Amino acid sequence: MDPRLPTAEHIIAKILEDRFDVKVGICKFDDIGLLEVYSRLDLREVVLEDLENQTNKIISNNLVVKKYILSREEAEKEVDLRKVPKKTQEIRIVDIQEFDKRPCADNHVDNTSEIGKIRIKSVERVGKDRYRFLFETND
Ligand SMILES: [Zn+2]
Repeated sequence: MDPRLPTAEHIIAKILEDRFDVKVGICKFDDIGLLEVYSRLDLREVVLEDLENQTNKIISNNLVVKKYILSREEAEKEVDLRKVPKKTQEIRIVDIQEFDKRPCADNHVDNTSEIGKIRIKSVERVGKDRYRFLFETND
């Protein structure tokens, strides 16, 4: 799997969490990235160009992306384990240097410089308080 989209997803998710207090739902990656979030605000009003610019600004900081394993006990002090099955005791952390840390088992780049620019194509409402963002790499 192309590791650029999953890494961009963490960055977009973090920006949306900080700005709008969203909760991340499902994500899928194919030729295009899909991120669904839950929000009580109407996220169709988000200016996609702003979100895209913010994301690309973070990417352009060439941040190191570390991956490591923590025990569940250690991990729960640092990250939200809500989406990790209770029986999983070894938690893989994806740590984007001084920006974001979250549990994830997907493939990710080693440095955000590998992502290049991304484009946020659309946001639509796909259910009550549920919004879907589509994004892609710029090639
Ligand atoms: Zn991930």
